[in-house]
Amino acid sequence: MVNSLAPGHPDPGSTDRTRLRRIPDKAVTERVTAYEILDAGLVAHLAVLQEGQPFVLPVGYARRGDEVLIHGSSGSRLFRTLAEGVPTCLTVTLLDGMVLARSAFESSMHYRSVMALGSARRLTGDEELDALTVLTEHLLPGRSRDARPPSKKELAATLTLALPLDEISVKVSAGFPDDDPADLIDPIYSKIWAGVVPMFTQFGTPIPDQFTPEDSPVPDYISTWRCE
Ligand SMILES: Cc1cc2nc3c(=O)[nH]c(=O)nc-3n(C[C@H](O)[C@H](O)[C@H](O)COP(=O)(O)OP(=O)(O)OC[C@H]3O[C@@H](n4cnc5c(N)ncnc54)[C@H](O)[C@@H]3O)c2cc1C
Repeated sequence: MVNSLAPGHPDPGSTDRTRLRRIPDKAVTERVTAYEILDAGLVAHLAVLQEGQPFVLPVGYARRGDEVLIHGSSGSRLFRTLAEGVPTCLTVTLLDGMVLARSAFESSMHYRSVMALGSARRLTGDEELDALTVLTEHLLPGRSRDARPPSKKELAATLTLALPLDEISVKVSAGFPDDDPADLIDPIYSKIWAGVVPMFTQFGTPIPDQFTPEDSPVPDYISTWRCE
């Protein structure tokens, strides 16, 4: 879902804080790639600083236009802190494979990752209800047709936030090992296997809970679920 490409917003990696310095050839400057990665991922990590101590917490998320949506308990330290509008850093990482070089030093991973810097804003009213549907549809595509919508009490216990995708960076690592030339002619290490082992994540067979009637079919939409 690439429905807005933030005209007028800086390109990924174009601000001083987001410019890749370490291995800059892995930088991707197209916003469309950032949005594709965000749409393929399910879990983001968000940082908050409390009394000088950084905490980095994983959460489910969804992208809506040029924002990342998150929701959580109004009792959560992460969500209460972010709702105050303090600066945060969000990262989303997709792991695509392991890279086996001839040396341990040059061995690495294939990945696609996005980082976003900014401050979240709290959503309320219809904007919050729409965000919650977008979250459900990103994390559990098709489920909002079946699932009971949130009650007033549940909404009161929920903080729904939107983080703007203004200042972002994208780093993508692909390709074969970048071996030390000496290892490629070494009598021992030039003989070993080296390359890439691709990695995939997949859903398993659905397991009904003890309250599901025996004649209740597995929803069709689950068969369309894919994860990266
Ligand atoms: C799955 C995975 C595994 C990794 N394993 C290692 C490892 O073992 N060792 C290692 O040194 N590095 C690893 N990296 C790369 C790591 O994330 C950093 O890019 C790297 O350590 C350089 O950090 P830095 O602070 O010097 O980056 P700099 O290039 O100085 O960072 C400047 C700016 O570039 C952007 N940026 C940097 N890294 C990323 C990123 N990954 N995604 C999006 N934007 C980014 C940010 O906006 C940042 O503020 C891994 C990355 C991923 C996704």
